[in-house]
Amino acid sequence: MRRLFVTTALPYANGKFHIGHIMEYIQADIWVRFQRMQGNLVHFVCADDAHGAPIMIAAEKAGITPQEFVANISSGRKPYLDGFHISFDNWHSTDGAENHALAKQIYLQLQAAGLIEVREIEQFFDPEKGMFLPDRFIKGECPSCGAKDQYGDSCESCGAVYSPTEVKNPYSALSGSTPILKKSDHYFFKLSDPRCVSFLSEWTQGLSADGRTRLQPEVLNKIKEWFVTDESGKSGLGDWDISRDAPYFGIEIPNAPGKYFYVWLDAPIGYLASLKNYLDKEEIQQSVPGAVAFESFLADPSVEQYHFIGKDITYFHTLFWPAMLHFSGRKTPSSIFVHGFITVSGEKMSKSRGTGIDPLKYLSLGMNPEWLRYYLAAKLSARVEDVDFNPQDFMLRVNSDLVGKYINIASRAANFIHKQFNAQLGHVMPNGEQLLQQLQAAAPSISRLYEEREFAKALRDIMALADQVNEFVDQNKPWELAKKEDAIVELHAVCTTCLEAFRYLSIYLKPVLPALCAQVETFLKCPPLVFADVNTRLGAGHVINDYKHLIQRVDEKMLDKLFELPETLESKPTPMEKSQKSKPASAQVAPSQQPIEGEENLPSPGGEPIASTIGIEEFSKIDLRIAQIISCETVEGSTKLLRLMLDVGEGRTRQVFSGIASVYKPEDLVGKLTVMVANLAPRKMKFGVSEGMVLAASQADEKSEPGIYILHPWNGAKPGMRIH
Ligand SMILES: [Zn+2]
Repeated sequence: MRRLFVTTALPYANGKFHIGHIMEYIQADIWVRFQRMQGNLVHFVCADDAHGAPIMIAAEKAGITPQEFVANISSGRKPYLDGFHISFDNWHSTDGAENHALAKQIYLQLQAAGLIEVREIEQFFDPEKGMFLPDRFIKGECPSCGAKDQYGDSCESCGAVYSPTEVKNPYSALSGSTPILKKSDHYFFKLSDPRCVSFLSEWTQGLSADGRTRLQPEVLNKIKEWFVTDESGKSGLGDWDISRDAPYFGIEIPNAPGKYFYVWLDAPIGYLASLKNYLDKEEIQQSVPGAVAFESFLADPSVEQYHFIGKDITYFHTLFWPAMLHFSGRKTPSSIFVHGFITVSGEKMSKSRGTGIDPLKYLSLGMNPEWLRYYLAAKLSARVEDVDFNPQDFMLRVNSDLVGKYINIASRAANFIHKQFNAQLGHVMPNGEQLLQQLQAAAPSISRLYEEREFAKALRDIMALADQVNEFVDQNKPWELAKKEDAIVELHAVCTTCLEAFRYLSIYLKPVLPALCAQVETFLKCPPLVFADVNTRLGAGHVINDYKHLIQRVDEKMLDKLFELPETLESKPTPMEKSQKSKPASAQVAPSQQPIEGEENLPSPGGEPIASTIGIEEFSKIDLRIAQIISCETVEGSTKLLRLMLDVGEGRTRQVFSGIASVYKPEDLVGKLTVMVANLAPRKMKFGVSEGMVLAASQADEKSEPGIYILHPWNGAKPGMRIH
């Protein structure tokens, strides 16, 4: 029996789960369930990543303590985890006592190893807010690849990790002001120490227990880039700033008043803390066979340790984390399993920007969680590739494979067994014997594919086996046998073969479809299926339960609802008064393009020809932002204008006058999101200064087609986001 310690990445406790979290949990859960079905002992744990400035600031905004804030978020986790059948053994928090103790202990051990150094550094300070700026609140251009609007600690575009002062053209995300540099003592983990460099170059290239490389080939390639030494011979591995100044929500550094561990130091330690929290429970020690005390479990060289993570946090998990463990005298992970992101219909999502599928909405629509588990499994491999959720493909795969190929076998055979044979199985067909042996013989290769996280390949093989079973059914035609009086023995044997085969397929699919297979176990009246059951049969004389329909097909209407926007502009604009002569100063609507000379005969969509071509540089001069309409009121003395107060995430609101009073009522707009030109020079108007322009669409000649339609972003856009 192998003993495994498995985690997913800890989700940051400042928001709900998105579909990216659920994909990671499903990937890890399938692997864990497979291991359990092999008879291995698995401790599968996770926790909320509770610390850091973003949570501190969000809690402050909400008027509650960070602890309360995190508890609120944490209390919302269960419906997702239960809903998608994620079988964590424990869920804890990095603010738990275990993590405080472990983080301090590990730090002191690293210090004793001579790997902690204090240096005075200059750090960004927001002069408007009067505080040192956390990395995530500094934005600017990536020092490595030049990508714009990257956070102060790492680049979402190229994966580089750097210190905030390296960011080019920085600005404070709290106030928008340009931060100034201020001095402060910071604590560093000396990753550039030759001991660390040599340990990590060896560790990352190492082999895991089964002789494969410890890290995936794509990950190894990425790491090579990080190791590159510069011309002066300096290692590419920079020292890691692990301290933050008060005010900070985190763990105080021993013997360093006012200094806290940077959240990324104590976050991975949270894996150990959650395991400790779990193993310290008396009922676990008593009820889980093989459970031993935390310290001895973790120190045992035969225990394997795996972390499932997204590709964006590879650096932390393949460099910092093993180095922290090794130099504090601990065992290092056996492997880090890195996955790609999830895209929806090919559209890229990122953690911070939310995604196109709301997992709870998926569940609330009555969509079966195992459809998603099956679909994702059918796309997941051991490679670091993005996985695309395509609604049509989703429907096709679930309906044709899961229902059409697999479930169909049981539904075709079960009724005959019940009606004609008292629910009792008989003997297997002579030519069915060969089929069943073939199914059994696939166990080692399917197991290997699960073990290697090649779920897509595993499902392909399993569905190929299901095809063979269906072929067997089609060749033997039980529905015709049922009509012949002399074929009763044959009918019994054909249906028995089908159900024995269905049981084997269920064993293979159980890691992916745990709830469905639990129903199958009830239907077949058999104990919980494990992989060793491929060596047995239900056998002649075995009595089964009534067949109840096991799974529905995906209904296209559900998918339509899933992608329906919850929030649309309900207020249809009333037609403009035809008498209105002047072009509405709608949001200071830009003067319509004059037809370009000689081009009068061009098509005129919307009443005007497309404007002359501009380059991307010219377009990028226009700073379009998502704005929230905080308030909206009519303007005394004007029948055309509305006064909008807009929030574009700058920590203040802007006043914009817009000529849309004839089509929108103020109360229709309050709270809605729209799009504004944020860098338009302020314009003095009769009623006040207009600090920008709201975008709206209209026909060039509103006499022929009246109406003004202000723009409204899709759900997920947030105030301040730039439109590219
Ligand atoms: Zn970059």
